[in-house]
Amino acid sequence: MAARERNAAFGLRQVTGAFFAPDAMGARGAGEGLPGDGGRDGSMADMWWDAHVHLDRYADPEAVLARAWAAGVGFVLAVATDAASCRRLLAIKRRFSGRVGIAFGLHPERTSWNRDEVDAVLALLEAHAGEVDAVGEVGFPHYALPEAERDRLPHEAIEVLDAFLDAAARLDKPVLLHAVYHGAPVALERLRRAGVARAHFHWLKAAPDVLKRILAEGHFVSVTPDVLMRSRDQELARRVPLTQLLLETDGPWPFDGPFCGRPAEPAWIPRVGAAVAALKGIDGAVLRRAVWENGRRLLNGSL
Ligand SMILES: [Zn+2]
Repeated sequence: MAARERNAAFGLRQVTGAFFAPDAMGARGAGEGLPGDGGRDGSMADMWWDAHVHLDRYADPEAVLARAWAAGVGFVLAVATDAASCRRLLAIKRRFSGRVGIAFGLHPERTSWNRDEVDAVLALLEAHAGEVDAVGEVGFPHYALPEAERDRLPHEAIEVLDAFLDAAARLDKPVLLHAVYHGAPVALERLRRAGVARAHFHWLKAAPDVLKRILAEGHFVSVTPDVLMRSRDQELARRVPLTQLLLETDGPWPFDGPFCGRPAEPAWIPRVGAAVAALKGIDGAVLRRAVWENGRRLLNGSL
């Protein structure tokens, strides 16, 4: 199924080039009927975690989290798509303290930016800096741009990313990036300019030399459920050292292959981890501990 058809099937709308319409999945106001979790139990180091999920975009985030905990996933990092998304995630975090981390940002897959919207998300970031774990999802558009223009990033996109990177540097937060293909090397350069030392290049697609430069600067790179079926992602999993690798679902993104027909969710992470461990020829527990430790470094201890 083509991506556009799959998006339609899962209720994802493309509005003015934006892939993410926060209410399209029937997301409800966070905090409505979400029970408290009672905190962590057991050994968290023996658990998996999901480094990038759009938790507020599920119709029932509570059920998604319950399935994650039952599957051995101990922590999820939820990324925002706009100001309303930030508010919903903040309410969810307050109900699941210690097991849900949140990032505030403005999803970059769009063709135009509303400065008021950018300022609203930046203001929320400043106002809730004590509760926000990271800045994201931010970065550059790729899929929203016409194919012939994908090698020329809109100047506006660079300005907006710079504003978020400056905030991250000032507040000492890591950055969760959507920056693929031509956007990846530019994002790396903007990180350096802003003095941001901890970033996660989520679901990275980039040339081997760009990947090398990202890794040389100490940033983290993740693989998604695509690693079960795409050689491109399997190659990426092999190339990223254990000390810089993260796992994510980007849920509720609709993947193909064995996952076709179901929105992704954090409970799938152990299956992603098993596939990556097999590719690297290591024990699943070794990978799990490494990925957990990477999360602690990325999030400066909030995991
Ligand atoms: Zn995402």
